[in-house]
Amino acid sequence: MFIPGWALCLSLSWAVGAEAPKREPLTAVMGAMVMEVELLAGQLKDAKEHAFSGVPFITGTLAGRKVVLACSGSGKVHAAMTTTLLLDHFKPAEVLFTGVAGAINPALDRGDIVVAEKIAQHDFGDLTTQGFEPKGPGRAPNGRRPPLFIASPKPLLELAGKAGKGLTFEKVPTATGEHVPAIHHGVIVTGDVFVSSPAKKAELRKQFNADAVEMEGGAVAQICWHQQVPCLVIRSMSDKADASAALDFVSFAEVAAQNSAKLTMAILELLAKPPAPPPKPQ
Ligand code: SAH
Repeated sequence: MFIPGWALCLSLSWAVGAEAPKREPLTAVMGAMVMEVELLAGQLKDAKEHAFSGVPFITGTLAGRKVVLACSGSGKVHAAMTTTLLLDHFKPAEVLFTGVAGAINPALDRGDIVVAEKIAQHDFGDLTTQGFEPKGPGRAPNGRRPPLFIASPKPLLELAGKAGKGLTFEKVPTATGEHVPAIHHGVIVTGDVFVSSPAKKAELRKQFNADAVEMEGGAVAQICWHQQVPCLVIRSMSDKADASAALDFVSFAEVAAQNSAKLTMAILELLAKPPAPPPKPQ
């Protein structure tokens, strides 16, 4: 019997089912670049190295929580590849992504942190004579269609809020003095482009109400959405995605990576704590 490709895809989606697989009490912590991950790798206890398809992973304990650390490499394809390998081989209960980004919200400065309430891929859509219209990624092989904005799970956002309280960050020099970095919850957009353009920055603000732009988070969130694994992207600003972005990136990526790693560690500490027992009946 002839089954057209799309029908095969949809029938496979029923065979695969939508049930979330069993997960381990382990948090995956990812970053794009070595400099973002080595800050955490240096603090790992009982570190053990692994590799799948040539991609290295390190397991161990961080802030009392069992973790698997991975460096995704730059861009959406590397991030998707690493996330898929990681979820398939380690079955983490949740994924935290830590790293640096370009600030899109004019109120943000270098060193500030954005915790993604929701995340979208800014370079996926339709390009017509009317211009570019963003669309959520197309249909997955199982027929499901991810939304344009993937929302972060509430429990992880609440944990990030709790973890951020009382954290302090080193002052960052600015043209007029110093800036004390702060934590914001907002919109992150992802695309395969390093944004160093005031025009693109204005467009991303207008189209997505974006607070920050980076190159991996949306891909990680899409894979986690597909596999029903909670995911939270945390980014600290290395630059302002403007004409000085490339220079700023060189000067501020290190301090930004440290700020993001600090909040990530605080979240891991909370994840390590056993949940409070239910109150005793009177
Ligand atoms: N040197 C790396 C590329 C770094 S690209 C390589 O060769 O692979 C910049 C990295 O920082 C990306 O991982 C991206 O997520 C983040 N980033 C920081 N500022 C950015 C900006 N203005 N636009 C897009 N991504 C940015």
